[in-house]
Amino acid sequence: MAKKKEKMKTPDWIIEGYDSPAEYNKAKGIKSEKKVGKTFNIRECPKCHSDDVGLVLSNSDAEQGGGKEWECRKCKWKGKDIDEKELTEKELMEYMDKKGEGVA
Ligand SMILES: [Zn+2]
Repeated sequence: MAKKKEKMKTPDWIIEGYDSPAEYNKAKGIKSEKKVGKTFNIRECPKCHSDDVGLVLSNSDAEQGGGKEWECRKCKWKGKDIDEKELTEKELMEYMDKKGEGVA
């Protein structure tokens, strides 16, 4: 079996006739600053948007092999449809700022 040498794939920005990847990203609305480095996963209660949530064992699902669901410690919401967000370090800071203001 002869191994095919892989050709360099032509980047989309060349195919679509842009001058640079930056311009392509701009035109496509892609942020050139990708989420590099640390990202933080935030989980929020879908009801009250508190991040004071945790996994709890659920009796209702035990038979189905699941057995875990989310619980909000603030409003006592329970379920699997937790809101998940992936934040960069910068976004996390903004998130914390907003949260700080929101607390009475
Ligand atoms: Zn809640």
